[in-house]
Amino acid sequence: MADDPSGTPGSPASPAPRSAALFERARRVIPGGVNSPVRAFRAVGGTPRFIQRAQGAYLWDADGQRYIDYIGSWGPMILGHGHPAVLDAVEKAARDGFSFGAPTEREVELAEEILKLVPSAEQVRLVSSGTEAAMSALRLARGATGRSKIVKFEGCYHGHADALLVKAGSGLATFGHPTSAGVPPEVVQHTLVLTYNDVSELEAAFDAHGREIACVMIEPIAGNMNFVRASLPFMKRLRELCTQHGALLVFDEVMSGFRVALGSAQSLYARDLPGFQPDLSVFGKVIGGGMPLAAFAGPRAVMEQLAPLGGVYQAGTLSGNPVATACGLATLKEIQKPGFFEALSASTHSLTTGLLAAAQEAGVPMVGDCEGGMFGFFFPKHAGDFGGGLPQNYPQVMTTDGARFNRFFHAMLERGVYLAPALYEAGFVSAAHTPADIKATLEAAAAAFAAG
Ligand SMILES: *Cc1c(COP(=O)(O)O)cnc(C)c1O
Repeated sequence: MADDPSGTPGSPASPAPRSAALFERARRVIPGGVNSPVRAFRAVGGTPRFIQRAQGAYLWDADGQRYIDYIGSWGPMILGHGHPAVLDAVEKAARDGFSFGAPTEREVELAEEILKLVPSAEQVRLVSSGTEAAMSALRLARGATGRSKIVKFEGCYHGHADALLVKAGSGLATFGHPTSAGVPPEVVQHTLVLTYNDVSELEAAFDAHGREIACVMIEPIAGNMNFVRASLPFMKRLRELCTQHGALLVFDEVMSGFRVALGSAQSLYARDLPGFQPDLSVFGKVIGGGMPLAAFAGPRAVMEQLAPLGGVYQAGTLSGNPVATACGLATLKEIQKPGFFEALSASTHSLTTGLLAAAQEAGVPMVGDCEGGMFGFFFPKHAGDFGGGLPQNYPQVMTTDGARFNRFFHAMLERGVYLAPALYEAGFVSAAHTPADIKATLEAAAAAFAAG
């Protein structure tokens, strides 16, 4: 909650006057006033808050309002903001030099740490963003298989590489259309877009194109259509089909990696499907702890096809940056401490069940789910939609009540709780969120529901 919720909220028309002024200024010099579109609040309307500083579970905006932060920079801040061990590591690294363009010991340490936690991978390459990691994994998959076609699922986001900015074509097993201007149709002509959790579409796609498919890329727990899990039967069949047809299964764990479990989402599938492993994995967000750092990883035989050993080119001036690797390494060390994920999961679970209880109390249809430090909730238009469970794919997510979500988002923001500003985004809890923060959030939710 705000330090003093009855304090100086500004006029009702402009609850955040300094943010509004900054936004105005920003729009003159930055397209849309933001450096990444979702920050502009276009889905929910209103003034995006310009953030001045953060500590632990809280953000403070330019008007001095405090918020409980459930975005955590879209996932990286799993320890909360300003964790002392991370600050210390970053400060030391910065004093030793920002960037050398030469290898460093810390890159080796971070690679070893990642591989220790991800048994499906034997080698890893570090890059600077999730987009870059997914794009590079795609090139590697195509290079390693000598095939061109790729499969992705509607509602999964893999960054903004041209070949992945694609929506479904007009019919099953037809190739997709670009979702962005500036992407030539020829560039996405090899990208097939399927419905998440739909086994029969998957089988039809492999029937039609199996020998040409280089890889299937998937968010195993999709966080870019709020929170949708790939079902076990779907994942099992996906693994079988990839193996049978010689296609690589690429897990995009940029969001779920080291966030839903210490071993990432793949460890949860391996628990339920013995022996399960993806072929390649893509990481970002948590592994950088808030610094620009991402990675892709896989078996040695595939990874060694990358330059300088193999013919698949990939490079980066700031890849494995010393300050970013220090931040990531310190973060990964903290999340391995005994009990870390148990405590984080318990907080996330109490938040999610509490939100659902508050909605039920108010007679508002709501469904939700969580895993580790990641959660999602939806407002079905009718109780009983999706068989009383959760949406299973993007079209179902988009049938949920957007107007209700927007009202709830703003009512929570007014009450000092900062949720993701779009109904198709997941939420994140950090280790810095205390039971008191969760309780305050649930009180805000009860008040928000009571207000309509
Ligand atoms: C955030 C995200 C990306 C893109 O990462 P950036 O660092 O924003 O480029 C890719 N895949 C998934 C699943 C993501 O959540």
